[in-house]
Amino acid sequence: MKITDYTAASLSAAITSGEITPTAAVSAYLEKIREDRQLNDFITVCADQALQDAEKVEQDLKDSKRTDKKLLGVPVAVKDNICTAGVKTTCASRLLSDFVPDSDAEVVARLKRAGAIIIGKTNMDEFAFGSANEYSAFGCVRNALDIDRVAGGSSGGSANAVAAGEVPLALGTDTGGSVRQPAAFCGVVGLKPTYGAIDRRGVIGLCPSMEQVGQLSKTCDDALLLFSVVSGRDGLRDIDGNVRGITVGVAKEFFQAEKSDGVRQAFDNAIRTLKSLGVNVVEVSIPSFFAGLPAYHVLSSAEAVHSFKKVVAAYPHTELLGDEVKRRMLTGAVVTDGENYDKLYINAAKVRTVITAEYDNVLSVCDALLCPTTATVATPIGGITDPQQEHMCDSYLAPVSLAGLPAVSVPFGKENGLPIGVQIIGKRNAERDILNIGKSLMNAVK
Ligand code: GLN
Repeated sequence: MKITDYTAASLSAAITSGEITPTAAVSAYLEKIREDRQLNDFITVCADQALQDAEKVEQDLKDSKRTDKKLLGVPVAVKDNICTAGVKTTCASRLLSDFVPDSDAEVVARLKRAGAIIIGKTNMDEFAFGSANEYSAFGCVRNALDIDRVAGGSSGGSANAVAAGEVPLALGTDTGGSVRQPAAFCGVVGLKPTYGAIDRRGVIGLCPSMEQVGQLSKTCDDALLLFSVVSGRDGLRDIDGNVRGITVGVAKEFFQAEKSDGVRQAFDNAIRTLKSLGVNVVEVSIPSFFAGLPAYHVLSSAEAVHSFKKVVAAYPHTELLGDEVKRRMLTGAVVTDGENYDKLYINAAKVRTVITAEYDNVLSVCDALLCPTTATVATPIGGITDPQQEHMCDSYLAPVSLAGLPAVSVPFGKENGLPIGVQIIGKRNAERDILNIGKSLMNAVK
């Protein structure tokens, strides 16, 4: 097996046992990143530093040190809105094109303590606004499975890098779907943990009440491993994919919401598969589901305009910003201005309260919920300028963010050769449970 085909868990085990050297692992991934340059997944590749770090791990192994680290020698890519000490952190914006943080974000520090090697910073939509990675100041990410299609966004570089085998694990951020949606488009596992489960210090986020560090991996087992590292939660039992006897809800609104034929078939098939595995599938209702995406846009823009004041105070050259960021700032200003404050902002805040209660309510009778991740497979590059397209992208995702619940997208089926994702939404702090359901679905299509 090629090194770049290893899972993070097996790579770490092979490095710990001495079967693969950390330098060989890092070199193999760097080579793959170089080969795939045209995909544009990385804004910065930390080749020299990563090789130095690998040598250090190698030396420590020789000295019999650091052998109990969970991610020993495992290369990890980090979205470029997560601060890395001494390494440029641009948020894919010309405004921050020279910004080099002094210190690591808490999640990066945790990765390093677990033995991981930061291999580079991934491309994204500017300041994480977008669903296609087309709003990056450094150019679009090209989907590894079809270079004329998008990889999704805003964590498109992270998802595509994992899909292409340029790295076994990557971090992204997810405010309204930015990890789950590119995971679906690229055919990988994308976990958005419970709001607050992962320390956000050092993440350049603009929507503090929703944004969450998320993660991308090839398998649900790797997702659990990475989650235990970045959340600091120890003692999470391994998952075996046994779901017999659990109850999974599907809201009738999930059937009504727009989706392509392929996505509809995959969703139906996922329901059938869970039933065949002994899951009790029940129909529930989330009446305010369709109000989720508009409320998300009002609230996230309002928060962003406020948060952005701090960025602009330090970096005043706003003429360097791209159009989408400017549009969001304008939206944020409008929805909080004068009468709009009550009509739009307060109404959206009410919708959020209702949606949260509705999700909590159905999750009091179900162990998890199942729905498509996105309404379509990866769209052609250039298509996202169509607002209808953008709407279809995030309608299954944004309500979950409003409610602060954990959710994972796992690949399940294909349409015209392109991957489809299904989303499993869990109770607060039930990351392990949703990853277990995800594993059961992925095992069923192996
Ligand atoms: N696509 C959504 C948006 O454009 C979500 C972005 C995100 O989660 N950062 O706002």
